[in-house]
Amino acid sequence: MCGIVGYVGNEHAASILIEGLKKLEYRGYDSAGIAVINNKEINMIKASGKIKNLCEKTDDGKSISGTIGIAHTRWATHGAPNDANAHPHVSNNKKFAVVHNGIIENYMELKKELLDKGYKFNSETDTEVIVHLLDMYYDKDFKIALMKTISRLEGSYALGVICKDYPDTMFAAMLNSPLIIGVGVCENYFASDVTALVQRTKNVIYIEEGDFAEISSNTILIYSNTGEPVTREKTRIVWDVEAAEKGGYEHFMLKEIMEQPRAIKSAIEPRIKKGCISFEDSNIPTDLLEGISRISITACGSAYHAACAGKYMIEELARIPVDVDLASEFRYRRPIIDKSTLVIVISQSGETADTIAALKEAKENGASVLAIVNVVGSAISKLADYVIYTWAGPEIAVATTKGYTTQVTVLCLLSVYLAEKNKKIDAETALRLTSEIQKIPQLAQRAIDLNPQIPYLAKKYHNERSMFFIGRNTDYAVCLEGSLKLKEISYIHSEAYAAGELKHGTIALIDNDRLVVALACNDRLLDKLISNIREVKARGAKVLGVITERSTKIIPETDDIIYIPVGETLFNAVVQVIPLQMFAYYVALHNGCDIDKPKNLAKSVTVE
Ligand code: GLU
Repeated sequence: MCGIVGYVGNEHAASILIEGLKKLEYRGYDSAGIAVINNKEINMIKASGKIKNLCEKTDDGKSISGTIGIAHTRWATHGAPNDANAHPHVSNNKKFAVVHNGIIENYMELKKELLDKGYKFNSETDTEVIVHLLDMYYDKDFKIALMKTISRLEGSYALGVICKDYPDTMFAAMLNSPLIIGVGVCENYFASDVTALVQRTKNVIYIEEGDFAEISSNTILIYSNTGEPVTREKTRIVWDVEAAEKGGYEHFMLKEIMEQPRAIKSAIEPRIKKGCISFEDSNIPTDLLEGISRISITACGSAYHAACAGKYMIEELARIPVDVDLASEFRYRRPIIDKSTLVIVISQSGETADTIAALKEAKENGASVLAIVNVVGSAISKLADYVIYTWAGPEIAVATTKGYTTQVTVLCLLSVYLAEKNKKIDAETALRLTSEIQKIPQLAQRAIDLNPQIPYLAKKYHNERSMFFIGRNTDYAVCLEGSLKLKEISYIHSEAYAAGELKHGTIALIDNDRLVVALACNDRLLDKLISNIREVKARGAKVLGVITERSTKIIPETDDIIYIPVGETLFNAVVQVIPLQMFAYYVALHNGCDIDKPKNLAKSVTVE
């Protein structure tokens, strides 16, 4: 999920690799490392923390000789961010070194197989299986060993590999994780993105999913996953460094919005085993989830809105009462919790001060705490009894997008899992709902593709002084987040209201030309929502309807439309919020706001 760089040529590899890593720093990371072949031996150095720690250990790379090497910045997914878990990883005989971005979903099975064969593991990472597989399959042919190795891997990887028997050749491979090859003169490269390369070469090859490449100073051979040679076009980069960092998007926020289908997939796929949901990576004992009488979810900001969606889902499917609290309230209100309460805390950064305090309060009262967090090794991940990682990858924009949608995705999985474990749904229903969850990444992509009109809608409405978001059930939970996105980045006042609640006072604020964003994706409650739309229209409001193909009958009641693809209604919150994030983004763009760093906000709120 973070950065990799590889170099082969005639120059001092370590300096080039470290420079490349520095260019990838913007992606966020927790440790860094480098491996270079010199005198037929692999010389490897790693350091947790910033790249400057690696620079200190290597005298800016000068202490490592050699002209071929690989380097890595890690965003931990499996194992704490420390020196041992930092990449590269080497085989027990130090013949191979590997850097990897992504997640190997079947690493537990592979690790067991390798342990049985006598391989010794030196880290807690999923990645380390790769280097031992390479060694296991190596019979004096690097390419065959690599091909056999990648054929065993499930999940996502961008890989860089060196072998001390091949001092002129490195291999790179990719599946569901970005990797490009840089073409130089008598030297070649690979990297996670063009920022690491633009200063050295502007000629790159975009390899395709499943491809792998054999790279030496003068040749680049690309193969499909079956080992067939394939041709991939060389492209000339036109981006400058800043545009390249953002993947060509104008802001990190837009890049992260667009990354959501892939991020959501990362949160789902490793947890599906033979069609069933499994949280074996979180070591949650089954009896913990079977015997709970209440769930209490606590969080701040968008994570709190994810919790609100979670309440609807868990209560509906698992029939367990769920309380949702703002962490800043929970911590001071002497919450009623005990051993039979499961407390779930949610935080992207895992460092949110109020959420940490709430977690401690829950533990003091004897509750088991399950954390849903993105950052491995964060304070919350260490304090909680069990952790489910969202695996969204680093999020740079202050306003969360993929951080939030992956939290809701985990709650979708958890709701089905809890329902099945507590025998509230049968195995067949669990399988059907799980397959509905597996459709969410494609639906998320479709939600983006279906709405090219959003920049125009944003242009039309960017001068509004205030907006309302209304909806019922999970649509209401999405309203909370859609409204917050708009406020956070465009500074336009907005309010989210449960649609049935408007008439209890607030409807006085709906006057001529007020924009009301009406979420109408819940078929069961559609007629109720139509009545609420009529109430606001009668007072002169304009209505932007957020609809699915099943709710088209509200079209005549609306002024404009945002389309949501049809999916399982209960899980639709993940998908519905995406066009609302886009709407907020383009409104803020029209208003000239500093989108990635909105005023007065911090990415991780480490103060009370
Ligand atoms: N899953 C690997 C780890 O935790 C790679 C993480 C990354 O993409 O940086 O070490």
